[in-house]
Amino acid sequence: MTICFLATEGLVPWLAKLAQNYRVFAPRREGKAIIFRPWKEGDKAPVPLKATVAPKGVMFPACETLVSYKTTKDPQQLDKVSLTLKAPVKAEPTVLFGCRSCDARGFVALDKAYLGGKFKDPYYEARRNATLIITHTCDNPTPTCFCTWVNGGPASPEGSDVLMTAVQGGYVLEGISQKGNDLLAGSGLPDGSDKLNEARALRTEAAKRVTPRKDLSKAAERLKARFTDMDFWIAQTAKCLSCGACTFMCPTCQCFNITDEGDPASEQGGQRLRSWDYCMSPMFTREASGHNPRMVKAARMRNRVSHKYWYSTEYSPDGRFSCTGCGRCIAQCPVSLDIREIVVKAIEE
Ligand code: SF4
Ligand code: SF4
Repeated sequence: MTICFLATEGLVPWLAKLAQNYRVFAPRREGKAIIFRPWKEGDKAPVPLKATVAPKGVMFPACETLVSYKTTKDPQQLDKVSLTLKAPVKAEPTVLFGCRSCDARGFVALDKAYLGGKFKDPYYEARRNATLIITHTCDNPTPTCFCTWVNGGPASPEGSDVLMTAVQGGYVLEGISQKGNDLLAGSGLPDGSDKLNEARALRTEAAKRVTPRKDLSKAAERLKARFTDMDFWIAQTAKCLSCGACTFMCPTCQCFNITDEGDPASEQGGQRLRSWDYCMSPMFTREASGHNPRMVKAARMRNRVSHKYWYSTEYSPDGRFSCTGCGRCIAQCPVSLDIREIVVKAIEE
């Protein structure tokens, strides 16, 4: 493992150096929100806090063109139409800088969905392979954080290429993956091994500040037993507005919709777009016939919670939850609905 030390005043010059070879995304304050944005030389140091929205859009954009198409008619035979298709898989070398461990673990959950089956998603795969994740270990868990409940932690290395921990006078950088070790080995930064114990001690203290852990080991089994208990789900969902904020902020939510836009016979042609969608929407499961198997919001909440704490444990080889405990769905819910309370009630009642 390569371990380097980056002095506080060396952070911006190091990012500027990275930006010469990579697209760099880093958290920036915009009004009350903290958002991942492209970072370039001349920008301020990134905000060292958890972003309001998870950075999954770097690999899985909120809207992307899957295929562009255009039809052309043969002027001699107007009934003869030819179709041109282009599938742009764009993947520039990218550094995702300053996400939290719960965000990096979110990509492990997305990997299961987009790379874990027989068919891999080429768009996600190209960006995932081209991206290097530098995770800023968390030193300020908030009351909504519960990463330790779901087998993570403020310094979990899963999904990260480099772990970065703030210590006195700078940061300790630890290579986690081969990509991360290679980056550090060629960085020209001094060795940071002598500061590793300080970094570890700070991380241990941070883990103690996470909301005390509840045992969720029976969550999948109890949610399964609750599937037909609609009274339970109606009670848990009563105040939900079906706004979807919880899913759009989430690092593991992965649903999308596909739409066709534009006129294939026009100069610009048509595009097939993939856009984020959300299972809390009443429209999400409406079928062409008009039938909707999740017409009521209790059924939609049951799906959201069960997917994260039950279904995912069955389709993931390591039985993991599709929740990293980032707490964004709790912090951003306009009616303060708390997914932890639902899961704990499902286990305890
Ligand atoms: S953010 Fe809250 S109100 Fe909106 S859909 Fe999610 S649980 Fe319901
Ligand atoms: S379900 Fe909520 S706490 Fe879990 S990863 Fe998604 S936003 Fe974070």
